[in-house]
Amino acid sequence: DRLIAAAATREDDAVDASIRPQRLADYLGQQPVREQMEIYIQAAKGRGESLDHVLIFGPPGLGKTTLSHVIANELGVNLRVTSGPVIEKAGDLAALLTNLQPHDVLFIDEIHRLSPVVEEVLYPAMEDFQIDIMIGEGPAARSIKLDLPPFTLIGATTRAGLLTAPLRDRFGIVQRLEFYSPEELTRIVQRSAKILAMECEPAGAAEIARRSRGTPRIANRLLRRVRDFAQVKAGGRIDREVADAAMRMLKVDPEGFDELDRRMLRVIVDSFDGGPVGVESLAAALSEERGTLEDVIEPYLIQQGFLIRTARGRMATQRAYRHLGLKPRAGSPD
Ligand code: ADP
Repeated sequence: DRLIAAAATREDDAVDASIRPQRLADYLGQQPVREQMEIYIQAAKGRGESLDHVLIFGPPGLGKTTLSHVIANELGVNLRVTSGPVIEKAGDLAALLTNLQPHDVLFIDEIHRLSPVVEEVLYPAMEDFQIDIMIGEGPAARSIKLDLPPFTLIGATTRAGLLTAPLRDRFGIVQRLEFYSPEELTRIVQRSAKILAMECEPAGAAEIARRSRGTPRIANRLLRRVRDFAQVKAGGRIDREVADAAMRMLKVDPEGFDELDRRMLRVIVDSFDGGPVGVESLAAALSEERGTLEDVIEPYLIQQGFLIRTARGRMATQRAYRHLGLKPRAGSPD
């Protein structure tokens, strides 16, 4: 699997519990989000109410799940974690909701993947803390209203556009997570190294951070791979040279691109003359799923200015040409 994939692997999950920040003070970066949430949390606690429902969007690995842990901890309530595809029936959601304690947080990852039937149950639950459930079948069927404890729903999704408007409108707080700066990621790497009792110099942490695609999950994963390398080749100590040598061995280039990123840029440049090329054609040429291109590969390439999305498709920028060691095509965008 891709070393720099933003989605969680089993190994990520295994170390997650020890390094995942639990308090707002340890949630590094995302300053506007942190400042706002601090106020909303304090205000809700002061009034003795449940926090408004929160929608968090942002690419995988930027800290949506972590933020929901932090919010529940700061509120001093329980967190229940589930995801859109797991809630198959209206009854599954009803069971989750009726088991909540007052002010608890229910986190639904990939909330855009809820089925329409389940989504319908969620509307009155969010709005009035009530659900309607059907009992029985056929002519004898009737619906009964159940009161729920006041609770906070935190929904996470990779792109805001995936949500239906009625669902989006029911969130009082909407937060968008941004890619992290190299400086923020350096601090995240240093924090993780400390928790995992690794010897990591600031320059070594910075080298890992630079190649982590703005994504904490990737930074933590690269840190673990560099640790293996350092342990076997450098007496366990991570400095700039060790980090650099490890990354070269792992084929993660100085921009944090791997073979797949370079292949995507290559295909646009070589097979489609720099674009514009539609996402479907691109997915076919790369034998990847469209969703993978849109959610996993593209966002970082676009954010870093290697790719632009136009109405007619994707185009490689001059920066992409130069990164591949080629002369930019005349007329390719900046
Ligand atoms: P998402 O839910 O957006 O896919 P996660 O919340 O699972 O991402 O974050 C992935 C990992 O990155 C977490 O295990 C956590 O250790 C780390 N992480 C995320 N955000 C931060 C942050 N703001 N500060 C420090 N570490 C973070």
